[in-house]
Amino acid sequence: MFPMCRLPLNIRNLFLATVVTFWATIAGFVHAHEHELVTHKFGGGEPESSEGLTINIVDKATGEPIAARFSMMVDGETYTPDFVDENGIRFTSIHESKNQRYTVLYTRGSGPVTVGLPVNASNVVVSAARGFEYQAAKGSVRVRRGETNVSLELNRWVNLEEDGWIAIDEHLHYDRLDPKDDALWLTMLEADGLAAGHFMVLKGGMVPGIWSRQFAFGPDGQASDGSRLMIPGQEYRDSAQGHINLLGIDKIIEPYSTGGTGTPTVNENFPPLHDVLNKARSRNALAGVAHGGTLGRQSTHMADAVLGAVDFWEISNGFIYNTDNWYRLMNCGYFLPMAAGTDLPNWPFRDDWQPFLGSIRMYANTHGKRDFLSFKKAMAEGRTFITGGPLIDVMVNGKGMGETIKLPSEGGTVNVQVALHSPYALKELHIVHDGVEVAADVRKIQDGSINRWSIERTVKVTESGWLAAWGKGIEIYTQNIDAMAHSGVVKVLVGDKPVQSSVDASSFIDNFKQLREYYLNRGVYEKDADRDRVLLLFDRAIDELRNQLKD
Ligand SMILES: [Zn+2]
Repeated sequence: MFPMCRLPLNIRNLFLATVVTFWATIAGFVHAHEHELVTHKFGGGEPESSEGLTINIVDKATGEPIAARFSMMVDGETYTPDFVDENGIRFTSIHESKNQRYTVLYTRGSGPVTVGLPVNASNVVVSAARGFEYQAAKGSVRVRRGETNVSLELNRWVNLEEDGWIAIDEHLHYDRLDPKDDALWLTMLEADGLAAGHFMVLKGGMVPGIWSRQFAFGPDGQASDGSRLMIPGQEYRDSAQGHINLLGIDKIIEPYSTGGTGTPTVNENFPPLHDVLNKARSRNALAGVAHGGTLGRQSTHMADAVLGAVDFWEISNGFIYNTDNWYRLMNCGYFLPMAAGTDLPNWPFRDDWQPFLGSIRMYANTHGKRDFLSFKKAMAEGRTFITGGPLIDVMVNGKGMGETIKLPSEGGTVNVQVALHSPYALKELHIVHDGVEVAADVRKIQDGSINRWSIERTVKVTESGWLAAWGKGIEIYTQNIDAMAHSGVVKVLVGDKPVQSSVDASSFIDNFKQLREYYLNRGVYEKDADRDRVLLLFDRAIDELRNQLKD
């Protein structure tokens, strides 16, 4: 891409004319979808045959019906009924430009749900799941023999809420044009074992204009049933600088996207994301980097983090899992709490045992509180981990995620305990010390139907740094990825030494110098002052790291 000012005038006019014509042709559509759902639809159709199946999903502990996700196989093939009665929810997720559509089914917890069956159905298998703290269940029915009911018991194998942890999908893009469907959404969050979902408006990438519209922002746009919370926010993007999530923002930041993404198109790479992040914070947002910082062509995220403008680092969207940038920042002393969310309606396909919302999710320890401020506080204190299935934990000298150990100036050894638990297969578990895996034997136990892996070992620490754990679980067939889990970190400080890494700091400095060159020569700006602002930020980030090296 070339800056507009470098194009000969006639080409520039031709380009502008094309943009105007294109905009005129789509304007009607953009206007039209302002009041229509483009990301999903609720509901189905009429019963497809005279036969129906009644599905009763209950909590094993109470015997009472509970909200859960369910899926069906009829005679060996995946089957999605057209008809689902009022005790269920039939939801179709739509990603227009990626042509990704997926229909997901839920019980509401209000009683047995009756669904349609195809003509001549013989054997039906029903699976039920509810987040990661319940074991998925399966049952089968022989319709040919006149069976029309199936009951499934969901067994809660762990309760993290009792220890203060709540589960959150931090990255959703679904339209909420008015509050009328919020009760359905809250039931879906419940059925997927989530306490909160962040619904973020954005521009371009699926349909030309604004989508995942929210009827209000700030507290007015939130919805709650007392246990679950929906929070409107914004994803702001620049094709070069990258993508940021502005969770819980009170008021939208225009123009949503820069650097040529979406329509109406803003070609400039301005404002710098650094300034957008800080503006979002002034509007009460928790402002962080999306997709592991991997989606900008000339990503400014690491510089933004070094300058203190970033509140969190999203390390996974399921289809993206990247810890590299995050590790290197922590090695230089920039500790950012991790986040994860699905980025639905991207990659909506699910294995039977998976939740639909929050198939990759974050947990935050809010002491069980559900409000946005408690979530922000938990994040600021680093009490967070992420998972696509297995539950992970780390303790260092008895201290947990977000806590700090202090060693004398000569350093010493610490006792590290990590654990990974799941009702499904586990593949790997590792201790990470300052971004490097520590070799250790993994103890593997089968505890009833739960796999429990653990490591306990001493680690020698001579420099200030950090410890964490990561693990890998079952393969997710519909997405061709593994279920990943990563713990939050425990800091270990040695005397009064700061956490720093000359290797990572110098590689950041080299990177920032290259980026400065890119934005100097190739960045698109309306005014020289705008470019100067961007260059100044790189200069400041480079200085900041240089100061660290002098310490
Ligand atoms: Zn997104």
